[in-house]
Amino acid sequence: MKTLGLIGGMSWESTTTYYQWLNRLARTRLGGQHSAKLLIWSADFAPVAALQAAGDWDAATAVMIDAAKRLEGAGADAVLICANTMHLMASEVAEAISIPVLHVTDALASAIRAAGSRRPLLLATRFTMEKSFYRDRLRAGGVEAVLPEADERDRLHAIIFDELVQGRFEPGSRAALIEITRRAITRDGADGVILGCTEFGLLVSAADMPVPVFDTTEIHARAGMDFALA
Ligand code: GLU
Repeated sequence: MKTLGLIGGMSWESTTTYYQWLNRLARTRLGGQHSAKLLIWSADFAPVAALQAAGDWDAATAVMIDAAKRLEGAGADAVLICANTMHLMASEVAEAISIPVLHVTDALASAIRAAGSRRPLLLATRFTMEKSFYRDRLRAGGVEAVLPEADERDRLHAIIFDELVQGRFEPGSRAALIEITRRAITRDGADGVILGCTEFGLLVSAADMPVPVFDTTEIHARAGMDFALA
C-alpha cells in the first residue's frame, strides 16, 4: 500500500472525515486489521481563512506548497488537498513537488459522468463557486455544473465559515442546503448536487436530498485509496 499525504486542517472537521473514509476503505478493500497509511499535515485554519478572505492567494499558495513539501519529505507517495477551495493552487502545488497531487475534480467528474448527471448543482464556498478554476476543470472532465443564485451563494459561504469550520451544524442550515437544491431543480433542471465543500457531508446526507449527491470528501478519499492500492 502506498502512503497518502493529506493537507488537512481546512478545516479539521472534514480532515477527520477523510481519515475515517480512508481507513474504512482500506478495511473494506483489504479486510481484517488493515488501515490506511497516511501522513497528515493539519494547518491552523484561522490564518489560512484570513488569507482567503483577504484574497492573498500568493501567500495561501506558499502555505500549500510548504505543506506539500513537508509531506513529500516525510515520505508521502501522493498528496490530497482536503479542501475544494484550496485546489485553486493545485497546479502550483503539483509543480513544486515530484509526487502527484490527486485532484478532487478529476474523481468528481468521473463519478458524475458515471451516474449520468448532466446538470449537477455546485454547493461550495464563494471562491469555489465563483472563481473559474473549479468549474473549468469539471468542464474539461465533461461536466457542466450549475450555480446557486448570488444570495444563495452568500448564504452557503456564511454557513461554511461562520458555522461548519467552527464545528456548528445547525438544522436551519441543513434546511437551507436542501431548499437551495430544490430551487435549482426547478430553475435550472439540476439533476444532481455536488457537496463541493468538504464539510457539507457533515451537515447533509444523500437521504436528505431530492437528487443524487456527489460528496467530494467521499469521492476524493475513494480516489486516494484507489491510488494507494494500485
Ligand atoms: N473545506 C472547505 C472546502 O472544501 C472550505 C474551507 C476552505 O475554504 O478552505 O472548500
